[in-house]
Amino acid sequence: AAKESRNEYRLYMPKWTEKLPRQMMLENGLRAAAEAGELEVYYQPQMDCRTGRLTGLEALTRWNHPVMGLLSPQEFIPVAEEIGMIADMDEWVLEKVCMQHVRWEEVLGYPVKVAVNLSARQLNRPHLPERIQQILQRHEVDPSQLEIEITESAGLTKAEATIRLLKELRRIGVGTAIDDFGTGHSALAYLKKFDFSVLKIDKTFIRGLDHDPVNRALVQAIVDMAHALGLRTVAEGVETEAELARLKQIGCDTVQGYLLSRPLPAREIEAFLTSKGTP
Ligand code: C2E
Ligand code: CA
Ligand code: CA
Ligand code: CA
Repeated sequence: AAKESRNEYRLYMPKWTEKLPRQMMLENGLRAAAEAGELEVYYQPQMDCRTGRLTGLEALTRWNHPVMGLLSPQEFIPVAEEIGMIADMDEWVLEKVCMQHVRWEEVLGYPVKVAVNLSARQLNRPHLPERIQQILQRHEVDPSQLEIEITESAGLTKAEATIRLLKELRRIGVGTAIDDFGTGHSALAYLKKFDFSVLKIDKTFIRGLDHDPVNRALVQAIVDMAHALGLRTVAEGVETEAELARLKQIGCDTVQGYLLSRPLPAREIEAFLTSKGTP
């Protein structure tokens, strides 16, 4: 009977009252999370298709919430954007990444490039390139060791500001990647307008690449086009050997995905890098 009444209760419950407590917990907790040490940067390796060598890592943030457990950025990034915290969070991630980079170079004896995601919300933040440059300088990290990923589907609407930002980042010597390529509305227009150094093919095109002729044709076309424009290509979400084999055939430069490794905490990725031996 208790179960029944709960179902009835749910039936009359407006949707927002169900979502509200969780949303509120997220909003209230996020500000203190970084200080409380609940935010953690995970890293996922990227590999050169031809040589099989490691080319770098992508930094992906996790929130280890005391009550709700390990939260995906898909859940808390929108919250951070909403409460105006995303810029601080992205800078915090960059700080962390720089510290790790320095440590890894010491431990491993060679530098490991790291890609960091930047929310499209803060692309026109005043002095963003200078802030990035300052963080790099403070940690004495060479700008060529950093790549900034910007999601295309987020809508690069502030065209003028974005063009200027990308130019500045390139001038500083930081790499720039257009993320989730193919999922937005005006992918081709973006390529013409914005000067990126890397193109990341969205994982929806990689799925079943070996037996899906449509995806194969699309990925081939994207890779050829990117190369014609002088961009390096990264395929994300590579899960099987068959997908990797097809990407090699297509001429894709770099792969990233569960096949190689899931995103891992810094300590575990360090073990992964050590076990690989050479860079
Ligand atoms: P993204 O930049 O497109 O990152 C790739 C996502 O695909 C990651 O999800 C990663 O864990 C997942 N992934 C990697 N390999 C595979 C695979 O083989 N198969 C499948 N199915 N998925 C794979 P994650 O870590 O949940 O991140 C989600 C999104 O959150 C990211 O998408 C990125 O846009 C955003 N994000 C993550 N960290 C940050 C951050 O520090 N700042 C900002 N602004 N955004 C972040
Ligand atoms: Ca990314
Ligand atoms: Ca992506
Ligand atoms: Ca994404």
